[in-house]
Amino acid sequence: MVVTRFAPSPTGYLHIGGLRTALLSYLWARRNGGKFLLRIEDTDKSRNSEEAALAIVEAFKWVGLEHDDAIVYQSARDGVYAKYILQLLDEGKAYKCYMSKDELTELRETQMANKERTRYDGRYRDFDGTPPEGIDPVIRIKAPKTGEIVIDDGIKGRVSFQAEDILDDFIIARGDGSPTYNFVVAIDDALMGVTEVIRGDDHLSNTPKQMVVYRALGFDLPKFYHVPMIHNADGKKLSKRDGATDVMAYKEMGYLPEALLNFLVRLGWSNGDQEIFSLDEMLTLFDPSSINKSASIYNIDKLDWLNAHYIKNSTNTALATLLHESYGVNVHGHDQKEILLDALKERAKNMKELAELIPGIIEAPTEYDEKAVKKAFKDDAIAVLEAFVTKLESAELLHLPTDYHHQMEALVSEMEIGFGKIGMPLRVALLGSMGGPGMDSVMAIIGKDETIARIKKAVETLS
Ligand code: GLU
Repeated sequence: MVVTRFAPSPTGYLHIGGLRTALLSYLWARRNGGKFLLRIEDTDKSRNSEEAALAIVEAFKWVGLEHDDAIVYQSARDGVYAKYILQLLDEGKAYKCYMSKDELTELRETQMANKERTRYDGRYRDFDGTPPEGIDPVIRIKAPKTGEIVIDDGIKGRVSFQAEDILDDFIIARGDGSPTYNFVVAIDDALMGVTEVIRGDDHLSNTPKQMVVYRALGFDLPKFYHVPMIHNADGKKLSKRDGATDVMAYKEMGYLPEALLNFLVRLGWSNGDQEIFSLDEMLTLFDPSSINKSASIYNIDKLDWLNAHYIKNSTNTALATLLHESYGVNVHGHDQKEILLDALKERAKNMKELAELIPGIIEAPTEYDEKAVKKAFKDDAIAVLEAFVTKLESAELLHLPTDYHHQMEALVSEMEIGFGKIGMPLRVALLGSMGGPGMDSVMAIIGKDETIARIKKAVETLS
């Protein structure tokens, strides 16, 4: 069975780059009928892990990902790690190192002066004398001193390190007994039965160390997939300056979860030149071995484009529900809800914009934009509007945008004027400014009586 996991360190929110690796891990597990697990890497106990887990689960819920089994908290597993530390000590695969801080500093300075890589020199590896007093020893693992360490990476292919370039007998438990990062990650992944580790390639240099732990404990290695980072347009690692990093901020900005997931899956993975992927489609197509080898570029315009696509293709009922729940804009009971949302979903880049456009249409303007008035109310604009009122008053069965369109057409032909002569003043009269959807839709949305009332008010105020 394929078992993947997402293993964030608690930061208090789900990072956008984290959601990408979580999504890839989720897709691969689900596609294979496997499991997708969540582990909070909270060995630094000063951070609130409960809160971090809640934030992640909340963001998962928003985008529609679900993890299997109970959340694993590293902070609750000291006993597990202690057991393996003892086992390695018993087996002679790890040892106590009594080096003092001063000795370590001295070693480092000598190595730097000799232009050597700074590393532990193994002086307690085979120590069987009397330990110095007053030192809480750290525990170090016996790592290979020479030879090749090869990662058969699912994305990068064969990645090879020379042990002498990258390893030393690294610490697996500190002087106070607390276990270290690479040690616990390897143990947890093994005990959780993780078969494929899909994570950012900023962790690639940790992998040889984790492999040392796997081997020392006799665990089977998982398959590793190190996913290239997300970069900004300048080729640097994505930071807060380039865009929001908290996933929930994207919700607040009015992005649909479908758009965000589609955006993220395309950051580094492709299927021909296809751009639009529903979650179901991702589930049938995604394969981590076709993730790109090079970094992907974060491009917010692409996300906006996808978001507009998903808004346009959402049902009006879904949009109305979202507008109500997230923005307090209730159009459920509006008798022209369909026309309203049809008109607006063509124009809105995000849900926030959509929500903000609605009151501007269904509520009568309280003022008129000065510039727009100047532009639109030239010549005989007032007379044209008055004639239009007369026309509407005698018209029956005005319901659809096309019904209103016909009325406008009839007027411009009778008065032998261009469309702009009615269009512009009408827009200012109905909406107060030059923006917004087509006039025929606006009139259909607010209805005949309200249309007439708004025109009359404008005529009165602006003539
Ligand atoms: N906790 C690590 C992080 O948040 C991830 C570790 C891993 O995926 O192996 O970067």
